[in-house]
Amino acid sequence: MVKLPIYMDNHATTPVDPRVVEAMLPYFTTKFGNAASRNHSFGWEAEEAVDLARNQIAAIIGGKSKEIIFTSGATESDNLAIKGVVEFYKEKGNHIVTCVTEHKAVLDSCRTLERQGKATVTYLPVDKYGMVDPEDVRKAITDKTVLISIMYANNEIGTIHPVREIGKIAKEKGVIFHCDAVQAVGKIPVNAEADGIDLLAMSGHKIYGPKGVGALWVRSKGPRVRLTPIIDGGGHERGMRSGTLNVPGIVGFGKACEIARAEMAEEAVRLSGLRNRLQAGLFERLDEIYLNGHPTERLPGNLNLSFAYVEGESLLMGINDVAVSSGSACTSATLEPSYVIRALGIDEELAHSSIRFGLGRFNTEEDVDYVTERVTKEVRRLRDMSPLYEMAREGIDLKSVHWKAE
Ligand SMILES: *Cc1c(COP(=O)(O)O)cnc(C)c1O
Repeated sequence: MVKLPIYMDNHATTPVDPRVVEAMLPYFTTKFGNAASRNHSFGWEAEEAVDLARNQIAAIIGGKSKEIIFTSGATESDNLAIKGVVEFYKEKGNHIVTCVTEHKAVLDSCRTLERQGKATVTYLPVDKYGMVDPEDVRKAITDKTVLISIMYANNEIGTIHPVREIGKIAKEKGVIFHCDAVQAVGKIPVNAEADGIDLLAMSGHKIYGPKGVGALWVRSKGPRVRLTPIIDGGGHERGMRSGTLNVPGIVGFGKACEIARAEMAEEAVRLSGLRNRLQAGLFERLDEIYLNGHPTERLPGNLNLSFAYVEGESLLMGINDVAVSSGSACTSATLEPSYVIRALGIDEELAHSSIRFGLGRFNTEEDVDYVTERVTKEVRRLRDMSPLYEMAREGIDLKSVHWKAE
């Protein structure tokens, strides 16, 4: 029997892997030292654990361990990268190139800098699959551009950007390239060096590690990237991020990276298999459903679908033993359709009917089959109540209907 409720929202967060929990536990109790305590064994023990984690985290992105700056999560990493570069290089220029489907941590950092008059920002569009065109990046660069910020893989539609091409352009033009790689790290191969990335943001809780811990990888050579810190204090993390290190969190984040690195290839095959099964099952059973995002260049566990004539929110409520996410919910109290889905150019109605399935390490085939049946049943039920669906099925072209406002 399938175990309910089913969690299928692994882009929002993931459960902590039991092996990660186990690695973390001693660092709450017997090994509680402050990694910055230089004069006793408690401190040394903590520092050693942090060093190991630094190695594990650097290894998963092909970086050096001394280039890892620990933060409270990827939101802080994105803030530090963007605000830190703009402040440090303000004599050189003030222009940022980013794209419309970035995470709010990136977009809002850019907006703040704009509002403060510290930067001008170009927000590049994406194509109907959510892909940014590297040539658009090239064309947007001016002699005032100090930063490109383009994500590795999108958290809603799973689309994987042509990061290596963007990295090449950044190098050619001598512009620093920040990449929010939260959804990519541990899911698909990422090599910051080979991809031409200069700053890379990642997060513990998206890869079966704990919440509240993340990192910013900062290139040390070719070129050495400099940052003005956004938090001042004891000068931890090479002066780039002060504050006592979250040792248990860091240990867990490191362990999560070690596991992901060892199991990623196999897990990606398994998850894309499950995802494809879910996708095929729903397309077989239901008409008028549409895939959002890129059909092939997409994260293994991601499936974002629009169910025409069904409100995403109503569908979510109808399947309350399955945790998935609608495009509308997460960012605001008002039910605005997701800006990411809107950026694909699909119409308002379909944008309102989008659902994100995020498959993860602990999902099974039984989960997928249950969700397939549950969603099918609920979509049919909601459509049976929809006069629009009825009309469409009778062959009435809804776009030609003149609705009378009274
Ligand atoms: C989750 C997420 C973030 C924010 O990470 P936190 O560690 O939760 O602050 C940033 N970018 C992307 C793409 C994400 O998916």
